[in-house]
Amino acid sequence: METQNKKRIFSAVKPTGALTLGSYAGALKNWIAMQDEYDCVYCVADMHSITVRLLPADFRRNTLDVLAMYLALGINPEKCTLFVQSHVPAHAELAWILNCNTLFGEAKRMTQFKEKSKQDPDNVNVGLFDYPVLMAADILLYQAELVPVGQDQKQHVELARNIAQRFNGRYSPTFVLPEPVIPKCGAKICGLQNPTGKMSKSEDNQNNCVYLADDPDTVMRKFKSAVTDSDTCIKFDCAKKPGISNLLTVYSTFAGVSISDAEKEFCGCGYADFKKRVGEAVVEFLRPVQAECKKLAADKAYLQAVMKTGAEKAAREARKTLSKVYRKVGFVLPE
Ligand code: AMP
Repeated sequence: METQNKKRIFSAVKPTGALTLGSYAGALKNWIAMQDEYDCVYCVADMHSITVRLLPADFRRNTLDVLAMYLALGINPEKCTLFVQSHVPAHAELAWILNCNTLFGEAKRMTQFKEKSKQDPDNVNVGLFDYPVLMAADILLYQAELVPVGQDQKQHVELARNIAQRFNGRYSPTFVLPEPVIPKCGAKICGLQNPTGKMSKSEDNQNNCVYLADDPDTVMRKFKSAVTDSDTCIKFDCAKKPGISNLLTVYSTFAGVSISDAEKEFCGCGYADFKKRVGEAVVEFLRPVQAECKKLAADKAYLQAVMKTGAEKAAREARKTLSKVYRKVGFVLPE
């Protein structure tokens, strides 16, 4: 595979639960589109996942399911570096050094930390606070120039850039400064019941979130019960019509048409019919993906082989950066 002269990109998803329409729209759709043009490093971020409480058996299964879903959606391990984060210890090693180059105040400003602390006040652990620094290590280890993420991760990529800049200034140029790549459409898929909040994997109200693994009846039921408004017009206007705008975004993402074409297509259509057609577009998109995912998830030997090859490749790249960093900070290197 020719990777020379290609820009490096890095991205990851946490296997805290099954992937959602939001994971695809905000991140994975871009990952797949960028595979040919870029030197892509993608990972299943299992170390990030344990900032919340998970049952180990579910977590283990989710990690493999997420990997199978990446592959089923079209992530090609021949074209990119695909691995599980905990298989490459350099992530944790660099995170410690970056911790010592991150100010408490700047980490405390992270919006996601504040939100998650409120969601589960009994488990505001140090890992949750430190999450963005581990994410900076993920990105900086691979000298990634671009990081395709949804809107919610933009602030974390900016922090990674600030940490890199500080380290480069303090020691000498070491890290490439990363930039986020946010999709124009789908950067924030909202809940179907609460169309102003992000659709999230760890959702109490199951009708708020559509999972990529949901069966057709479940998908249709969730879309039929989606919250709209008291108007009758299908028009994109996030402030005044968040429910309809969110459904238009989902349709645009999964049917592969622009928002304005979708508006034209549904001009004069009733809300019930519109919601049904958005659900059908998602079901049609998911049908072949789910069939492939089921096949891959059953092939444990294949998944193990993908993880092993990916981790070896990632570890080689990561070690190059980490050795440089160890030298720069003044650690005595063993001979
Ligand atoms: P996470 O599930 O938090 O590990 O996020 C994985 C990736 O999916 C990140 O790039 C997020 O920004 C993106 N993402 C997660 N949920 C959504 C959503 N509802 N809409 C758009 N992007 C999302």
